[in-house]
Amino acid sequence: MLAPGPGDLLELVRREGARTRAEIQALTGLSRVTVAQRLTPLLQEGLLRETGPHESTGGRRPRGLEFNSDHGVVVVAALETTRTRAAVTDLAGTVLTHADLPVSVQAGPQATLDAIVGASRELLESDAVGGRAVRGVGVALPGPVDPATWRPSEPPIMPGWDAYPVGDHLSEALGVPAAVENDANAMAVGEQAVRHPRSPALVLVKVSTGIGAGIVVDGRLFRGIDGGAGDIGHVRLVDQPDALCRCGSHGCLAASASGWAVAKDLTALGVPAVSGRDVRALLAEGNPAAARLTREAGRLIGQVVAAVVSLVNPGVLVLGGDLASTPLLSGVRETLYRRTLPRATRHLEVTLGALGQDAAVIGMTRTVVDLVFGATAVNERIGR
Ligand SMILES: [Zn+2]
Repeated sequence: MLAPGPGDLLELVRREGARTRAEIQALTGLSRVTVAQRLTPLLQEGLLRETGPHESTGGRRPRGLEFNSDHGVVVVAALETTRTRAAVTDLAGTVLTHADLPVSVQAGPQATLDAIVGASRELLESDAVGGRAVRGVGVALPGPVDPATWRPSEPPIMPGWDAYPVGDHLSEALGVPAAVENDANAMAVGEQAVRHPRSPALVLVKVSTGIGAGIVVDGRLFRGIDGGAGDIGHVRLVDQPDALCRCGSHGCLAASASGWAVAKDLTALGVPAVSGRDVRALLAEGNPAAARLTREAGRLIGQVVAAVVSLVNPGVLVLGGDLASTPLLSGVRETLYRRTLPRATRHLEVTLGALGQDAAVIGMTRTVVDLVFGATAVNERIGR
């Protein structure tokens, strides 16, 4: 293995929480002189900044180091089945400005991505951004993404998107590197980074119009070989074999327990609803039918989540998306605890997402920052 370069030192500060030169020396085994040499370009380029004197055990108090979250901004878009949120964030994921666009994945990749680019350019002109340089762009999609190519991989509910070069489209339009990620993955990264940074294993289940899950182990997303890890919406339920799913199959979890399915059932009861967002609005109003059907959906989701929890044994299970609510949480708990051994859930915290709609935005920022300011990229850019 090569000796740690400037990019590796940046990563120690950015991801591992190293805050002083002494801590970096201890973590890398590099000499004081070498650490100083490797830090110089990072400080000169403004990737790191010095903080005030730091707590120290005797002697003069050294200055601290931190990742400079003002070293530019990131453009992020979170696509949903019925709308898209575009935002500009600083490098720590703080949303500086955002816009909700009435454009959905149904419009196809070209029109959707052009709308995002147009909105991003307007957002970048705003005072809140203050003319800071754009360092990257990230987009979260409601379908599986191939991690090797940043392209959608046979998404079941996104007509026209399969293998479309989403990253290239955005990268060419905005002139910066692009990252593309499944939305449940992005939300899992966001919730983990902000609310559960010390959890060694977190699973987030997103229940909106569709259903998906993201798995973060030791602070890193587990995407699977083809980006399909966590794609639990189309697991078959043995007790619902006839329910028709939007993917064309029968008996999928999403056919009975997604926002789309709950909306369909509500409509049949005389409460008109189409999307997960409609169900969310009804839940917020306290509609009893929406609450009852969401709890039932939670029980079905709990059946599949029981298998996920038994396999991964996470410390935190987060429920996110439009249907994330007390009824959903109660329903999931009912079947989850009944269908798992005590050991699988003994230390499991089951909770609603804390970041709401910003979870995917914050997670995408983190993914883009990992791409642009990761050890390999920085070592290549400024030399070792
Ligand atoms: Zn399906």
